[in-house]
Amino acid sequence: MRVCYSQNLGDGNFKIVSRGGSKRLECAAFARPNWLLHAFSTRAGGGSRPPAAGLNLGFTAGEAPARVQKNRNEFLRSLGAEVFDLAEVHQIHSTLVYRVRRREDGELQYLPCGYPLPSGSGKPVPEGDALITNEPGILLSVRSADCVPILLVDSERRAVAAIHAGWKGMLSGIAEKTAGEMQRQFDSPPGAVRAAIGPSIRACCYEVSEDLAGAFCGAFAEGERFVRKPPLNQRGREPYAPPFLFLAPPGHGPDGAPRPHLDLVAAARSQLRRAGLSPSRIHVADFCTACRTDLFFSHRKEGSHTGRMMAVIGIRPQTKRPRP
Ligand SMILES: [Zn+2]
Repeated sequence: MRVCYSQNLGDGNFKIVSRGGSKRLECAAFARPNWLLHAFSTRAGGGSRPPAAGLNLGFTAGEAPARVQKNRNEFLRSLGAEVFDLAEVHQIHSTLVYRVRRREDGELQYLPCGYPLPSGSGKPVPEGDALITNEPGILLSVRSADCVPILLVDSERRAVAAIHAGWKGMLSGIAEKTAGEMQRQFDSPPGAVRAAIGPSIRACCYEVSEDLAGAFCGAFAEGERFVRKPPLNQRGREPYAPPFLFLAPPGHGPDGAPRPHLDLVAAARSQLRRAGLSPSRIHVADFCTACRTDLFFSHRKEGSHTGRMMAVIGIRPQTKRPRP
């Protein structure tokens, strides 16, 4: 008898945009600069079949690459993003950040950020988990199915970032590092940066080990606030729940021992604040991917063969830069 608290549009800064059979989420705070394009895809639309039924935008095992490409084309077309070049990385739950540029021959180039330089930077699509750019016509993308997708924009310097953060990346500080790289590479003052945190698995459904919960408590000053104990004292008060449902309620393993639940979004907020972002400029779409498999793919709920959503952000190529 789980009641999910995370299935709405959050602080009112998000809206669902429907077009044809597809739906995407947009952050209203990101809609204001007309040179900016961004979106969080949902599974609505597309032509993939179970177990990745819907708009699967990841080249997942068992899925025909041509089908994924067709879905991607459909998604980009619905955004009016055909004129962009899609930038992506092979996601490995790291803290590797790349600055994306366009070479003279038109090909995209991924320049590793930070020290030491990560290996694999010579590949056309390198391994990593965050992208930044200040060049028009490049659509940064990350894929997720429970992990936290984060988009950043600096409206003053016209720079953007896309971040894929699961527990490993979050624990290692990828959100903070990416905001730091925007400052270092584009002179983006953190106070001018806005963040949009897309749909991800939320604390209601994200059971973790005691060890992992402890690691977050140790890595963040306010880490205790990210960890929720199972609501043992509320079990007896849930309405209409027959007693047999109490045998293995959410938050309990097969042995009946309570397990902690982790709030990755709280960790993301904390990291972005630590990087210098104003709390009022951090917007969260309050959807839980595991609670809402009607609208999103969930790795935890549906398994590794489920599809992947995509979060994208870019600077429109046709808009001219303001005169200095
Ligand atoms: Zn949930």
